Amino acid sequence: MTAKPRLLTGDRPTGRLHLGHYVGSLANRVRLQHQYESFFIIADLHTLTTKPEPEHIKDIPLYIKETVLDYLAVGIDPQVSTIFVQSAIPETYQLNLLFEMLVTVPRLERMPTLKDMARDANIDSMPFGLLGYPILQAVDILLPRAQVVPVGRDNQSHVELARELVRRFNNLYGETFPEPEPIIGDVPLLVGTDGQNKMSKSLGNAIYLSDDAETVRQKVMNMYTDPKRLRATDPGTVEGNPVFIYHDAFNPSKAEVDDLKERYRQGKVGDVEVKQKLAVAINNFLEPFREKRAYFLAHPMIPNDVLANGIRRMQAEAKATMELVREKTGLSYSLDLFVDQVDIFGEYDG
Ligand code: ATP
Ligand code: MG
Repeated sequence: MTAKPRLLTGDRPTGRLHLGHYVGSLANRVRLQHQYESFFIIADLHTLTTKPEPEHIKDIPLYIKETVLDYLAVGIDPQVSTIFVQSAIPETYQLNLLFEMLVTVPRLERMPTLKDMARDANIDSMPFGLLGYPILQAVDILLPRAQVVPVGRDNQSHVELARELVRRFNNLYGETFPEPEPIIGDVPLLVGTDGQNKMSKSLGNAIYLSDDAETVRQKVMNMYTDPKRLRATDPGTVEGNPVFIYHDAFNPSKAEVDDLKERYRQGKVGDVEVKQKLAVAINNFLEPFREKRAYFLAHPMIPNDVLANGIRRMQAEAKATMELVREKTGLSYSLDLFVDQVDIFGEYDG
């Protein structure tokens, strides 16, 4: 049996995961984990690029737990996949330094994501680490020597930089890393409950995978719909209407959705009915996730061991990769060299 190709992707531990994350990436991961040997990174060091202060670092442990619970709840299977925390892998810092030598500042400044990242972080003066964010991402991909990286279109340029780093590294030091391929997700962004074009926790328009049924019901009943429709008897617009986008995404009864759309267009159904049915559909969709989450919360040693095993596994991979890197680059100094061996100065013949 040939080994499955390796995959790496993950999330920053900045909050709980929501329906946008589910449709945009988690659903895909749950499928891909059987096709690829998958590594899911909880990238805590990446949060330091914009939030290095202790008051932000102190939130990380909670969000790491939430992220693991969300992963397990949606069906990431720790029997086949590796879930780990980035900062628990010391080689991350080591390989990052070596990669920094292989990329120019203008190349990083040309990253199309850079301006957005700085703007989102309300930063007008660029920290060195934020400029180097894509290098750190390349390190995450290459420490487990991943060959495929599922990304949104917005992040494609980061995988391209990782590929350039691999070519440069292999060129200088000899064949070491595989060139990773992006798997571009073609799912459109899920709108927020407020009708903004992206569900996002920072916009406060998210339905979380871990929201309870009543919270979901309230969020749905307050959703933005067709602003031009004032009464239930006014004909309404279905296209681009968030409640119908969600019905299409989460209501398995196509007949019910088609009937609601038809009546909505004709002014024969109120927003309340459309929303009540949507709340039921989303709650049915989330219920299996809630049950699994509750199970893991009641048996906390399970998620604990998932993370412990994942970190152990990834530490072994990272160690093997760094040994190879030291050998290839010739940066093979260690204390042992001086303590156990015949003295290396003996070989000096200048
Ligand atoms: P948020 O935007 O909620 O603060 P985040 O900043 O942690 O979350 P992002 O970097 O915005 O995360 O998104 C991570 C990945 O999750 C994206 O590349 C995308 O694949 C997916 N994703 C996030 N939000 C959405 C969405 N609304 N619709 C579809 N996919 C999404
Ligand atoms: Mg975001």
